[in-house]
Amino acid sequence: MRQINKLAWRFLIAAAMLFPILYSCSKGGDGPDVQPPLTAETTTPSKDVMLQTFYWDVTEGGIWWDNLNGKLDTWKNAGITALWLPVISKGQSGKWSMGYDPADYFDFGKYDQYGTVETRFGSETELLSLLTNAKGKGFKLVADIVLNHNSGGEQESNPVAGKLTYTKFQPKSGKFFRSYSDFHPNAQHVSDEGSFGDMPDLCHDVDNVKSWFWLRDDGVGKYYKNVLGFDGWRFDYVKGFSPNIVKTWNANVGGSISIGEYWDGNVTLVNDWCKASQSGAFDFPLFYGMRDAFNGGNLSNLDGKGLIAVNPEAAYTFVDNHDLRNAGEDIVDAQKMKAYCYILTATGTPFIFYSDYESLLDKSKLNQLIWIRKNLAAGSMTKLYSSSNEYIFRRNGTPGLLTYLNIGNTAVQQKVRTTWGNSVLKDYTGNNPDVTTDASGYVTIGCQPNSYAVYSVKGL
Ligand code: ZN
Ligand code: ZN
Repeated sequence: MRQINKLAWRFLIAAAMLFPILYSCSKGGDGPDVQPPLTAETTTPSKDVMLQTFYWDVTEGGIWWDNLNGKLDTWKNAGITALWLPVISKGQSGKWSMGYDPADYFDFGKYDQYGTVETRFGSETELLSLLTNAKGKGFKLVADIVLNHNSGGEQESNPVAGKLTYTKFQPKSGKFFRSYSDFHPNAQHVSDEGSFGDMPDLCHDVDNVKSWFWLRDDGVGKYYKNVLGFDGWRFDYVKGFSPNIVKTWNANVGGSISIGEYWDGNVTLVNDWCKASQSGAFDFPLFYGMRDAFNGGNLSNLDGKGLIAVNPEAAYTFVDNHDLRNAGEDIVDAQKMKAYCYILTATGTPFIFYSDYESLLDKSKLNQLIWIRKNLAAGSMTKLYSSSNEYIFRRNGTPGLLTYLNIGNTAVQQKVRTTWGNSVLKDYTGNNPDVTTDASGYVTIGCQPNSYAVYSVKGL
């Protein structure tokens, strides 16, 4: 008898110890599949919303700078804070050039060469007017910098290559003359990390190149920053040279924004590049994850995807760009608003693509998401639920938010845990009615068919 009592007592103790575990498991069963700590972080929303101000082959004829100039007030009112401009200098293809065939880094539409005075985007005067107005309205300006390759040199005898090469550059601006010794192969190297097509590939270990790119006060970097007023850089095709080049540029030139175009879906490679260059990068891994999720009809493919999952401070997120749209490799139009809802409420710094904002999508809905971004999207990100059709995550900062994406054809709802107890939540997209959390922060939220919702405490 005494022995039985002892066993019974032990059983009761064991049961008491197990109770919280069993209880939390059963509670988890009717709630979300993840239940992290629920103290809101003190982080407040970051305010940066970037705009890519061009698409592939924008309207030619030298009207683009004026076109952008006319839109600055609208963009400012919408809450856009930074503008990525197309390459400002003249390329070999002259008035047709999108700038990625750079010939004269200091001809902004002023000198008669490559068949035109103006660039595709306009005259130097028009560019300077745009830059001045944009600065005056408080925009940060991001210059598109092509460091890897050049195009449009005269033919010359190249003793290193042992043949004639198009490597003799005599720019009409009078600045940054180049010849074969500035390009691979040369006395320093046969080649570097990569070349672009058959365009002459610059060697960044040559004094002439270093000097004109980042050392001289009247060189490309310092002139663009200190004279033209650019705040930061979008580095083209960084797979074509060492990450040290970007690090060295930023150390010498400065600037508050640095973004590498490391075009690769492999997040380890992109993050390794960020660490080596000490620069941010476009979040191509997230783009491909979103494309798989939205085009492929399975939102679980968003789980853990992107540079935002491993290094959010370095991640510049986007739904589309000039290259992807041009190649037809972008997220399908019908899913794009949901993808924008994702990047504008997630971590990382979001870019909006000109064509999406100005023509393809509903501008007022994008503006609403920009407002949400700047007022609610704070703190770390926690996934609360995912399935093929649904995705729910929380931003844990102050005030924080819940984003609900639904690619299915029926309205859906899920019970999730928030950082707010006994609070009324509003869907700030206006798509769903208010809901109220219980004392533990649990609440059932809904999302309309093929739609998105963003909940946060009401009254913000
Ligand atoms: Zn080299
Ligand atoms: Zn290269």
